Amino acid sequence: MNYYLDYQSAKPVDERVVNEMLPYFSERYGNPSSLHSTGDLATKVLEQSREKIAEFINAPNSTDIILTASATESNNMALLGAALKNKRKGDHIIISEIEHISILNLGKYLERQGFKVSRVSVDQYGIVKLDKLERLINDKTILISITSASNEVGSLQPIKEISEIALEKKILFHTDAVASESTIPIDVQKVPIDLITFSSNDIYGPKGVAALYIKKGVRINPVIIGGGQERGMRSGSENMPGIVGFAKAAEIMKKEISDDASKLKILRDKLIKNVLDSIPKSFLNGHPEKRLPNNAHFRFDYIEGESLILRLRDLNVSGATGSACSSKTLEPSHTLISMGLLHEEAHGSLLFSLGRFSEESDIERVIKVLPDVIKKLRVLSPLTPPDLLKQYSEVIK
Ligand code: PMP
Repeated sequence: MNYYLDYQSAKPVDERVVNEMLPYFSERYGNPSSLHSTGDLATKVLEQSREKIAEFINAPNSTDIILTASATESNNMALLGAALKNKRKGDHIIISEIEHISILNLGKYLERQGFKVSRVSVDQYGIVKLDKLERLINDKTILISITSASNEVGSLQPIKEISEIALEKKILFHTDAVASESTIPIDVQKVPIDLITFSSNDIYGPKGVAALYIKKGVRINPVIIGGGQERGMRSGSENMPGIVGFAKAAEIMKKEISDDASKLKILRDKLIKNVLDSIPKSFLNGHPEKRLPNNAHFRFDYIEGESLILRLRDLNVSGATGSACSSKTLEPSHTLISMGLLHEEAHGSLLFSLGRFSEESDIERVIKVLPDVIKKLRVLSPLTPPDLLKQYSEVIK
């Protein structure tokens, strides 16, 4: 039995999605670029899938959706594509300090190409400071890219406000919506966003397929050049089983997002309350209310997240120390440091993220084993103060 609480790094593919995909491996293997009937069927399915993916974010035209092979690729297309297209207008780009590693590294890359990149800071809850953002804007600013929610501490970002600022100043606005797309609906007709990255696996579809929404009228350059698929914006033969799966996942998610989110919020709140009540010197990272319904990110004084994960792993509990994409580095989380945590506090942090198939028993398991694991680690830690050790005296005996 594995108690899986790491939905932020990978989600199982919904069985309904798998069934939809199966015929597209061996039976319906056509390439939409071919001119025969097998190719025609593939074109029809590709466009029907694109429509479902567009409906998921309420995009008015399916042509606003460009299919890619990963959220990382969509982020590359958005940032590099917008920078290249607009370099005559200006050379300044704003991102935040708590972006996914793909955006942070794109920021560094763009600097090496001669662009100026500003990184807006966040408050103690991991929320972008709007006043700071406004002060960073200048007449050379061509793009703002801010995540919809922190993929680590789950803090929801003021996307609507940022989109309005960008619209007023005529600056392109991109958001990476990967962390929030399974729990917070995206509606591009309500929030004026120019470019949105979202992915298939994060809504229980297969990995290796994602999308970039490009609002009608917004022009960016392609970054993958080739045979001209995806209206020349993203060449390469389409991953048909993946795209069919993405579309099915989007269709299901649109119907079930509010039930999923309500269920997850109840489980999350139970987990947070029990952990904070039963473990001394434990804290919740991120905002208490403005957070993803599936995110419980804790900090425990006097211990290291890595040793905690490994102990929990022995007890069949899967959690994470931070973003899966950078969890194997020993650097403290850039998000936690930006929120003002000390290095040792950032190292003592742990993320439990829940998803569609999470059950009460997953939460019960954590509630049952975590206090004891923490106790044992603290007894071994030279940092634990004597008064806390005294409380734990029965373990020392
Ligand atoms: N953005 C965010 C917020 C993510 O959490 C991730 C990782 N799931 C990515 C982008 C990159 O996704 P991928 O590794 O599929 O390219």
